Amino acid sequence: MTNTSEGTSTPATTAGDTSDLLLALLARRDATCPLCGYSLKGLTTSKCPECGTELELHIRPTHPRMAAWTTGLVGLASGFGFYLIILGFFTWAAILDGHVGDLFTEVWPMWLGLWVYGGLVLVWTKLMRWLRRCTRRTRILLAVSCWGFTAGGSVALIWLLLVVVF
Ligand SMILES: [Zn+2]
Repeated sequence: MTNTSEGTSTPATTAGDTSDLLLALLARRDATCPLCGYSLKGLTTSKCPECGTELELHIRPTHPRMAAWTTGLVGLASGFGFYLIILGFFTWAAILDGHVGDLFTEVWPMWLGLWVYGGLVLVWTKLMRWLRRCTRRTRILLAVSCWGFTAGGSVALIWLLLVVVF
């Protein structure tokens, strides 16, 4: 007897199935290879005849809902970048002055900011799938919050530089 799918962990859609569906689709519709742009209409195997790339069929949402997540990521990464640039400037100045030890005592808020924004960027990347399922209102609110947090952190750092350092 041949092995059936009963009791095995074989996914409902196996590679063979998607390959058949892919070929059935390409028998009726034209599509181009995502890598080389070659026309795949009438394809007989699941490989691009031009570049040899293995192809498979996928299901994707019509609206990927990535705008809010991307906006938030750019916001938080900007905060990280701002702290990194300022810290880099102070590191350079400290090396020139020969007071490198001060980098770990006097400019601790910059290190703190760097860790906070770095941590938030990491958390935000983990939230991508979750955020895409949120309502539009929540997505916008969180994306704006990321930029708000970066704006607040940047203003705080500028204030610190003007009042405490200079
Ligand atoms: Zn190709």
